[in-house]
Amino acid sequence: MSKEVNPVSMSLHPLGGGTEVTSDQEPLCVFGTGDMGRSLGQRLLQTGYKVTYGSRRPHGCGPVPQGAQVMSYADAAHSANVVFVCVHREHYGFMEKLASQLKGKVLVDVSNNPEQNLYPEANAAYLQRLLPGSHVVKAFNTLSAWAIQNGPADACRQVYLCGNSAEAKQAVSEVATKMGLGVLDRGSLSSAQELEDFPLQLFPEWKLPLQIAVGLTAFFFFYVLIRDVVYASVVQGKDISFRIMVSLANKVFPIVSLIMLALCYLPGVMAAFLQLYRGTKYKRFPNWLDRWMLCRKQLGLLALAFAFLHVLYTLVIPIRYYVRFWGWQYVITQIKENQTITFDTTVAWRSDSYYSVGILGFALYLLLGITSLPSVSNALSWREFSFVQSKLGHVTLFLCTLHTYLYGWDRFLWASTYKWYTPPGFMLSLVVPTVVLGLKLLLLLPCVDRRVTRIRRGWERREHDEEKTLLT
Ligand code: NAP
Repeated sequence: MSKEVNPVSMSLHPLGGGTEVTSDQEPLCVFGTGDMGRSLGQRLLQTGYKVTYGSRRPHGCGPVPQGAQVMSYADAAHSANVVFVCVHREHYGFMEKLASQLKGKVLVDVSNNPEQNLYPEANAAYLQRLLPGSHVVKAFNTLSAWAIQNGPADACRQVYLCGNSAEAKQAVSEVATKMGLGVLDRGSLSSAQELEDFPLQLFPEWKLPLQIAVGLTAFFFFYVLIRDVVYASVVQGKDISFRIMVSLANKVFPIVSLIMLALCYLPGVMAAFLQLYRGTKYKRFPNWLDRWMLCRKQLGLLALAFAFLHVLYTLVIPIRYYVRFWGWQYVITQIKENQTITFDTTVAWRSDSYYSVGILGFALYLLLGITSLPSVSNALSWREFSFVQSKLGHVTLFLCTLHTYLYGWDRFLWASTYKWYTPPGFMLSLVVPTVVLGLKLLLLLPCVDRRVTRIRRGWERREHDEEKTLLT
């Protein structure tokens, strides 16, 4: 029944490494010779285990790692106490017939599903129901065959596992640890569904920030398009549609960036006012506020990406054909008309301040982005992290808002700014940050700050009122 793998054919296969088998090696069994089975078997062999594969076609299956044996499922089931089931859930049925061979053995369910909620119960729970005499452990499903094959040196690899038998989980943990993987126990088999949903998640914490970013970009793009390009075409009869590529983009990106940065700090300020109003921190925030606070990091990183685009687009302004053309045109007209222009110190102050504040704001923006990376934030104390993210974060918001106010300067007072009675995009972008900074200033007032700090340390208004009543 058994077949030693032909070393000549294996040497042609990428998995065909030379692993020597000795008699004192601990045996492990792998059901299925597909992608996952081969990768897992390869790593187990390299770790020093003796690997036996169970297959439907022990003599006709594809190449397996050198040093492994291939048998029928029934024979392989006898070979070890721990069996890695590398078979898709739809094909679990054949194992029911092996119930007697698999009785008392540890079955490692590595399976995933193509989509969430495909089945009423988790694959591991289903396997346990099919084989009540075995001990099913859900594990390794969050790692890809590729990652397992490349080994832990490729990146930090974590194995999540769960199961109803502590001994079975211990046996699987030992194997994973020997493979150089970190183990995280997620409790009983009832957590299997959660583990099976892990690989199917699609940037869950990025969903809301991405929706906000796309929504704001689309809104402001059309807003600026109508005010600039459509207005010029309808009212002035001019075609300036070429401005869409750089000028319009460079108007929309900073607007979205500033609003999103302000949206990072708005929920924190709102939470503080809610706590002040309620007089306690022990009441749950509404769900929407909780959700919003949880995605602040992603909001901030997207805001930084938009700021970065703004910087890049600004840097190309001097080499644009449109800018060079009108620059030369202006100079030639001045020469032709023998005109001289006088140096305006106010304009010089304004433009230098505008650039300088913008550069400083962007530098702090970058600092916020860098410190939000897990490898950097893990190296910071809580105080250092909150100093950068909260204090320097508000300074960043202040500088970026000031940069926009300096851009506007006295344009707020010009009637021509309000094309079709609408304010320009940059004015709209100032609303949220100005509100956030105003509210933050209120929170910084010593009397308010003292109250918020006390509430955050556990003080409750009701408790205080009761104390007062008792005293009187
Ligand atoms: P695969 O390449 O299709 O291999 C599945 C294996 O199951 C087959 O090679 C076959 O081995 C065996 N099998 C047993 N009964 C079968 C039947 N009736 N029909 C077809 N095959 C049958 O799949 P895979 O990528 O290795 O995935 C195996 C399991 O690991 C799945 O549950 C998957 O969700 C999970 N997983 C895979 C990865 C990955 O990166 N590939 C990552 C995590 C988890 P024999 O021909 O030798 O019998």
